[in-house]
Amino acid sequence: MTGMQPSHDEHLQAAMNAHHIPRRLQQRILELSVFHTYAAPGIIIGAFMVDYALELLGTDPGQKLYGVCETPKCLPDALQVIARCTIGNNRLRIVPIGKFAITVNASSEKETAEAVRVFVDLTKIKQYPVLDLWYSNSPDYDKHTMGDRLRDEIFSAGRNILSFEKVRVEVRPKKKWKSVTCPGCGETVPDYLVVDGRCGACGSMKYYQSIS
Ligand SMILES: [Zn+2]
Repeated sequence: MTGMQPSHDEHLQAAMNAHHIPRRLQQRILELSVFHTYAAPGIIIGAFMVDYALELLGTDPGQKLYGVCETPKCLPDALQVIARCTIGNNRLRIVPIGKFAITVNASSEKETAEAVRVFVDLTKIKQYPVLDLWYSNSPDYDKHTMGDRLRDEIFSAGRNILSFEKVRVEVRPKKKWKSVTCPGCGETVPDYLVVDGRCGACGSMKYYQSIS
């Protein structure tokens, strides 16, 4: 995949122009494709989802927003780039349920916040045959011959494959913590991450082996 190359962007741009995608959204999709490293179908759908969620909330990306994403694939990047809910600023939570859905809310002083959940609606996707095949991970979907048509259907559908519901989410207060030195490795970690007196790397979360 070569999403960073200008020729590819021109192709993407042409497809968006052909479908009269608003300028504002075109810009966001281009930024998103650079961030994601290529214009994956999932990030384009994600751009429409986040754009829709912000409009439903009556907010804009300049406001402090919190997002939940129900899949780790593609969709988190749309929340990161467009809504500025990022893993690093702790305003993005990924709940790996495996649904193409997001929930967005503005910051709230209360224990709960009113949020909007936007999701890909299976009853609506049926009218887009290639999109339907791709979305259901059907073996009949062939990315080599159907990729252009898939993108075409995504742009032609826009919000038409989405539905939303109003929901309430818990506001998660920032954790207070103390620094603790792990007796196993001598490195420090927050106290709430210590398990059985040790840090994760000295326990079940070890993901590397020392080679020197
Ligand atoms: Zn340790």
